[in-house]
This record gives sequence, C-alpha cells and structure tokens, in this order.
Amino acid sequence: MSRVFNFSAGPAMLPEEVLKQAASEMTDWRGSGMSVMEMSHRGKEFVSIAEKAEADLREIMKIPVNYKVLFLQGGATSQFAMVPMNLLKGKKTADYINTGQWSKKAISEAKRYCNVNVVVTSEANNFTTIPPQSEWKLNPDAAYMHYTPNETIGGVEFHYIPEVGNVPLVADMSSTILSRPLDVSKYGLIYAGAQKNIGPAGLTIVIIREDLIGETIPGTPLMFSYKTHADNGSMYNTPPTYAWYIAGLVFELIKRKGGLEAMAAINKRKADKLYAAIDKSDFYKNPVDKKCRSWMNVPFILKNPGLDKNFIEETKKAGLVALKGHRSVGGMRASIYNAMPEEGVDALIAFMQEFEKKYA
Ligand SMILES: *Cc1c(COP(=O)(O)O)cnc(C)c1O
Repeated sequence: MSRVFNFSAGPAMLPEEVLKQAASEMTDWRGSGMSVMEMSHRGKEFVSIAEKAEADLREIMKIPVNYKVLFLQGGATSQFAMVPMNLLKGKKTADYINTGQWSKKAISEAKRYCNVNVVVTSEANNFTTIPPQSEWKLNPDAAYMHYTPNETIGGVEFHYIPEVGNVPLVADMSSTILSRPLDVSKYGLIYAGAQKNIGPAGLTIVIIREDLIGETIPGTPLMFSYKTHADNGSMYNTPPTYAWYIAGLVFELIKRKGGLEAMAAINKRKADKLYAAIDKSDFYKNPVDKKCRSWMNVPFILKNPGLDKNFIEETKKAGLVALKGHRSVGGMRASIYNAMPEEGVDALIAFMQEFEKKYA
C-alpha cells in the first residue's frame, strides 16, 4: 500500500522518515524493551527523549534563554482560555485582531474573562485580507495583544510581525510554527497545537517569556496555570508522552534538513507555484489578497461549484486526498505544511490542469 498525498488541514501529514523511524522503534525503543508509549514519563529513557526534543526545538527556533517551552495537552483551544487567565495580571482589557474563524474563537473565549478590544477586523471583507497597521486601534494599556499569524481556514497569513510597543504580543501559531525562521524575542507568548505542523494531536507547545509566568486570575485551576507546568518541566501530571516523542523526531529531521531557513525556502516555492497555477487559470480562484496569502493553507474555489464533487472524487482516485474546503468557506483547500513533499504540490497542479482541460 503506497502513501497518498494528504492535504488535510489537521491532523495533517507527517514526514514519512519520522513514521518509519517510529515504526522501527515501536515495540522496543533503543534496547529499552518497551515502546515509548509504555514508559514512565519520569524514567530516564523518557526524560532523555523529552529533554532532547526541547533542546532541538530551542535550537531550530533559536528560542532565547529567558523563555520557557511547555509541552501541554488541551489543544490550541485551551490556550484561548489559558492566555487571559494567566496574562491579564489585574488588567481588565486585552487587544485582539480578528482575521478569521480562529481569531473569532479566541475572542469569544477571552470575553469570558475580560473586555476585548478588537484592534481591527476584516470580517466585512469576508476575512480575505489583513487591514494595514495604520488602521489598527491598539490600546497601549492592554494586558496583551493576541493575533492569529495564519488563519488555517481562510488561508490568510501575516508575513510580518505586528508592532505593539511594550504590550506583550501573543500568537496562535498552530498552523504556521516551524514554517520559516521567527524572531521569538518579539513575542510574549507563542502557542501551537501540534497536529498541523509539528506532530500528532494531543500535544500543544507553549513558548512563554519567563517574566509573564506567575499571576493568574482567582479560581484558575492549577492545570491552567503556566507556572504549574513551568515549575514542573511540563510533568506536573502525565504529559502526552508519545506525541512529545514524535514531535522530537520531527525537530531532529528539520535540523538534519537544514533548519527553518531550508523549510522556508521549500514552503515558499510550494506555495508560489500553487498560487501561480490558480491565478493563471480562470477555472480556479483564490479569493485572498495577494500580500497576505498563506504559505500553509491554500483555499481555492472552482468557477463551477457543480464540479466540486467530481474534483473531490477524481483527486482521491489520483492519490490526492482531503482537499475538500472547510464547511464555512466551501470549495477546496490544500494544506501544504512542512511534511507535504514538493512532489505532492506538483502532482496537485498537474491534476488541476488535466481536470480543467477535461471540464472547461
Ligand atoms: C487547528 C487550530 C486551532 C484549534 O486547535 P485544537 O488543537 O483543535 O484546539 C486553533 N487555532 C488555529 C490557528 C488552528 O489552526
């Protein structure tokens, strides 16, 4: 059975090298006589796996020493609550940018804890653009400023880091972390669910500047306090050990392949050629403003939506799967994270051209 090119938005494709290595170590991890799944999280084998994963992530992302890296559960969605619970620090207002469905979810959760100042919203444009910084209404007294660097559903991405002065900048990087080099020092907190561009579902990475850790709103459960996890090396309770191990294999692979500079070059090339193929045909269309098109999630619609079903059926037969667009957008969406080989994008483009010839 050969593997398909899986364009799912998440859980998404993982590198074949990583899956093969995990398979070869499945029943006996390096002479331990057990699977990583069966190990005590406090035993020396798993501790070595955990420490190596963190060290490799710190190296590839160049994470400064005054940041903690946490390996948590609960998904990015739990972070929608943990961020206000931990970062309000007595303040009553936080800034949020609204560029799509994930921003909206983060905002509605934050409203349970504080006043949300929506700095800017692109909802009137159906979330197809990012309004320029000159139109933003930042509050210099906000507890923090939250944004979604890559909107996984709309396919809208910031290709710059917002300027927010001294207000801590918080980013939901679930679908863009590790896609390119990043200046972590510009951020107060970065979080990402693993199942898009890191590893299996069940693991959530939080990178947080140390001075932001400590104070929580009254009633915050210990599990929702960053301090609990920071003080215990993410082992206050049982962490998602297997997902942590797989993430570590992915970090190692990125290192071997030339780090985030190498990822960025491949990702840009993959995205550029797919957008070029969409733009040069009037059979397909991507609605997103060119300067904020995502490198990771490429939504596109067929001029004739009556052909959507044919497109999905025929791509599937060609080994190109999970291209159906999100229910809120319709059409198609190709998610092309780090693990999607360039040949997968080439195969999709070739298919799209054949499909157009057949039905145009
Ligand atoms: C997938 C996704 C989420 C939700 O992640 P869960 O891990 O399912 O909670 C949040 N934000 C963004 C940007 C996402 O892509």
